[in-house]
Amino acid sequence: MTMRAHAHVVIVGAGIAGCSTAFHLSQLGWKDIFVIDKGPLWETGGSTTHAPGLIFQTNYSKMMTEFAKYTVKTLKPLRYAGEQCLYQVGGIEVAATSARWEELKRKQGTALAYGLDAYLLTPAEVKAKIPLIDESRILGGYYVPTDSDVRGWYCAAALASRAENAGVEFVGNIEVLDIQTHNGRVRRGHKSGIHYLRSHRALYKRLGFSPRRQGRAALSLDGRGAPACLHRTTA
Ligand SMILES: Cc1cc2nc3c(=O)[nH]c(=O)nc-3n(C[C@H](O)[C@H](O)[C@H](O)COP(=O)(O)OP(=O)(O)OC[C@H]3O[C@@H](n4cnc5c(N)ncnc54)[C@H](O)[C@@H]3O)c2cc1C
Repeated sequence: MTMRAHAHVVIVGAGIAGCSTAFHLSQLGWKDIFVIDKGPLWETGGSTTHAPGLIFQTNYSKMMTEFAKYTVKTLKPLRYAGEQCLYQVGGIEVAATSARWEELKRKQGTALAYGLDAYLLTPAEVKAKIPLIDESRILGGYYVPTDSDVRGWYCAAALASRAENAGVEFVGNIEVLDIQTHNGRVRRGHKSGIHYLRSHRALYKRLGFSPRRQGRAALSLDGRGAPACLHRTTA
């Protein structure tokens, strides 16, 4: 395996954001996309690997609610290693004070206005769904049946697998050390758009680099005029 020297789009990070970006760009017909992660694929050790993965869709921002609805719709049919990625278990928030109960009523109104099915439950109805709860201590619950629980990195891996089928290349165990910029912008072109990567000596051997050159390899963006899309990761 040799390290590629050019890519139209380089995405740093194969967590849910990087894999989803690669998947969506590939579905839009973008070609020559390269995704790098410093950790092993797909359980990279980033936040996506650790998250319990709760998806509560209600948000006072309509855009965020739409994003969450789209996320559920996109992840629901996905499978990784034969197992489903998303479990549509439903989400319940409970109110123990009257102020909180008013808030949950407001939430339901917002959800319905945004086209999300949402219900107010009596304490007994909450108890029927969550037997552990002490219904004498709550005023009621807010229930969204389509809220879900996901296995974060399974979702990332499943999206990545679809992206790979569309030609996207993913490489793990490579750490990006620097992104060169000029006047606040990522530079591109064979001479200017150099990204320096570094990883372990053993990995370099595996990739075919001389150990003497350990610590440095060059990856340049091509100069075809398309925007360089670099995702700065949160990790
Ligand atoms: C304990 C915990 C619980 C959470 N619970 C929830 C929840 O219930 N619901 C919810 O919606 N969200 C939850 N989150 C948040 C959610 O997990 C994150 O928002 C999401 O996973 C971020 O995805 P990401 O792809 O941006 O980042 P990450 O998954 O962290 O991916 C970034 C990737 O970039 C790689 N990387 C970083 N630097 C470099 C570099 N220099 N070179 C190469 N690769 C690099 C990392 O290895 C990593 O794989 C939780 C997070 C945590 C930690």
